[in-house]
Amino acid sequence: MTVHHVDVLVVGAGPTGLTAAGDLARSGRSVTVLERWPTVNPSSRAFATMARTLEVLDARGLAADLLARSHQAPGVTIFGGARIDLTHLDSPYQFAMITPQTNVDRALADYAAAQGAGVRRGVEVIGLDQDDDGVTVTVRPHGDEAGPHTRWRAKYVIGADGAHSTVRALVGADFPGRTILSSIVLADVLLAHGPAGRGLTLGSTRNEFAFLAPYDDRDASGAWYRAMVWDRTNQQPDNVPVDSDEIGGILARAIDPDPGLLNVGWKSRFHCDERQVAQYRHGRVFLAGDAAHVHSPMGGQGMNTGIQDAANLAWKIDAALTGADDAVLDTYHDERHPIGKRVLLQSGLMARGIKLHQPVARAVRNLLAPNILRVPRVRDAIAGGFAGTTLRYPHHKGESSLVGTRATQIPLRHGRLTELQRLPGFVFIRERGADPIDAAGLAQAERADEGPAVLVRPDGYIAWAGASTDRTAGAEALARWTGRELDCLAK
Ligand SMILES: Cc1cc2nc3c(=O)[nH]c(=O)nc-3n(C[C@H](O)[C@H](O)[C@H](O)COP(=O)(O)OP(=O)(O)OC[C@H]3O[C@@H](n4cnc5c(N)ncnc54)[C@H](O)[C@@H]3O)c2cc1C
Repeated sequence: MTVHHVDVLVVGAGPTGLTAAGDLARSGRSVTVLERWPTVNPSSRAFATMARTLEVLDARGLAADLLARSHQAPGVTIFGGARIDLTHLDSPYQFAMITPQTNVDRALADYAAAQGAGVRRGVEVIGLDQDDDGVTVTVRPHGDEAGPHTRWRAKYVIGADGAHSTVRALVGADFPGRTILSSIVLADVLLAHGPAGRGLTLGSTRNEFAFLAPYDDRDASGAWYRAMVWDRTNQQPDNVPVDSDEIGGILARAIDPDPGLLNVGWKSRFHCDERQVAQYRHGRVFLAGDAAHVHSPMGGQGMNTGIQDAANLAWKIDAALTGADDAVLDTYHDERHPIGKRVLLQSGLMARGIKLHQPVARAVRNLLAPNILRVPRVRDAIAGGFAGTTLRYPHHKGESSLVGTRATQIPLRHGRLTELQRLPGFVFIRERGADPIDAAGLAQAERADEGPAVLVRPDGYIAWAGASTDRTAGAEALARWTGRELDCLAK
């Protein structure tokens, strides 16, 4: 049997797998994505791309094109008129980008292909064995149980194969958790009188909720929206077809005034679980995206968290392949598992708040939420949590508290960090007025403000901060993360 050899095998061509594959290929690694379906997934699913993900996409040259074809929502109106206001986010993107997931998937597929990643569609992974040197993966044509098996051999495997992950099952990982919402209907709808304003709108009764996100796609009769609707009194299995009247009825009751359903495009019924694997790393196999965590769609976190998992993991695998200590790979779990846990918590709280049934509890919620969200510190903490801009990674004792924070907002004399990050590798940002250092292969920039010198990881987070004149610790940080010694940093 032919055995194909690559550095890294990615299972699943969703947003998580495609981001990881593109990043690894950009770093010069041989990488192949194995995808079960013969074509790009046509279902639109996620619709909100958050600020931190837009920064990640900009560091791959993908944000501007996507934004040019998308709606920008400055906030979300939730219960009792309360509003999650995104216009104060500490990011160039003070909004959520509203576009069907298919557009983000396509941009990432183009990115992965342009960087040289191979994508094999129509094949499914059915077996996986790992040893000290690598992982052997068995695949067959999708849907053809008698079809010929093929073997792949890779140093590392990324299981980005979604909520029903085969890779997760093959490494023997449980997926503990439970269903929190069933019979949720997602649809693209044409409305005669959609909510005014450019934001996202949520409406609810004691038994129903409806959520609308505008697409900036309008004709003479009305405008297209992504709708998510739910009815406590009409709970159906996922495979029961969605009736347009079901959608129109919930919209009419939950949104005031009735937005007037004219037409329904793509529609789907699904349920949502809250689950997370205990370990993101299983030897040479890593779980990422929906394969590692699933949660309520409230807050639009699934696709965003998966893309950021991939951005965190890919450069670490590249570093390990270069010679970095294996412990670098453990930091993927250490950094991303707590973030996944937090996403489960915050999207779960929002789902439970929206579907409150008791009139007294609903009244208290409607009274408290608008007032709490008007307090700037609370507003910015909640908005930043959903947008991903306030998330940070831990720093160790003795390190600057800047370590683990994102560097995207550091003002530079020329250009911006996400432009420099379109090439792989770390970036050294020196203090304003400091001379460049002599370090081949290390991208450099100069601060435009008064902050310290910083060493920025390929995923945009600070690895070291200090004075340019005292760079020993910076050299140590670079060596620890990459296995690469740069004497000049220690001078
Ligand atoms: C109906 C629905 C609505 C959703 N709505 C929202 C929303 O509003 N907001 C939000 O943020 N998120 C939403 N999500 C979640 C969001 O779509 C996911 O979080 C996101 O797609 C996760 O990306 P991923 O790459 O990790 O996994 P996926 O996008 O699921 O991609 C995994 C890929 O792996 C492939 N695969 C699986 N098994 C194998 C195998 N054995 N061999 C080869 N390939 C395999 C699959 O075919 C698939 O293409 C929704 C999901 C669904 C299903």
